[in-house]
Amino acid sequence: MRVKRHKNHRRILRFFRLTFGIQEPYHVLVDGTFLTHALQQRVHVKEQLPKMLEGRTTPMTTGCILAELRSLGDRALGAVVVSKGYYRVKCGHDENPVGASQCIREQIGKTNARRFFVATQDPDLRLQLRSVPGVPLIRLNGPVPQLEEPSESTRRLAKEGEERKRGPSDWEKPKLPELKAKEVLKEALAAKPKAKRKKKGPAVSPNPKP
Ligand SMILES: [Zn+2]
Repeated sequence: MRVKRHKNHRRILRFFRLTFGIQEPYHVLVDGTFLTHALQQRVHVKEQLPKMLEGRTTPMTTGCILAELRSLGDRALGAVVVSKGYYRVKCGHDENPVGASQCIREQIGKTNARRFFVATQDPDLRLQLRSVPGVPLIRLNGPVPQLEEPSESTRRLAKEGEERKRGPSDWEKPKLPELKAKEVLKEALAAKPKAKRKKKGPAVSPNPKP
């Protein structure tokens, strides 16, 4: 089971690496729902994420995630402490913190240009992030971290990318006979003077036979 899960994770990571250039060190935005769940399950996120992804991993937070956790009072105190130990992404909401899920969505944007992973237990946020191509999602299944299969929009964009790569050659194909004809014509034209030169060749040879 464990081996199979690792194999799955490797396949999914390979997909994200090849199609979206997501590679080590992995940057994982960890939200409050994930942290709270992790604490309940006694999962040490900072240790478990690199194990799961089999590579250098930096868990990250934002000021908004922290603000939301702080607003929950005592029940989120542990999560606040853990989150404070994470690298803090400058989210641009310093003056006016927004909800954690809105903040995360804004960091991801339309293309996930900064190549974040998102670790969340929030089904709504997950649903919204699935519509953005190229966002690897992590969740806890009990105490077991899992990397979600690439979403439909992610797979669609990857497929389009592949087709684009193949595209130009398909597009050039109709031109090929034309190009070939031009080449043949060029060769034919070049052949005539060449033939003449060839005839004259021995006369102007730089190394005449003694
Ligand atoms: Zn923010």
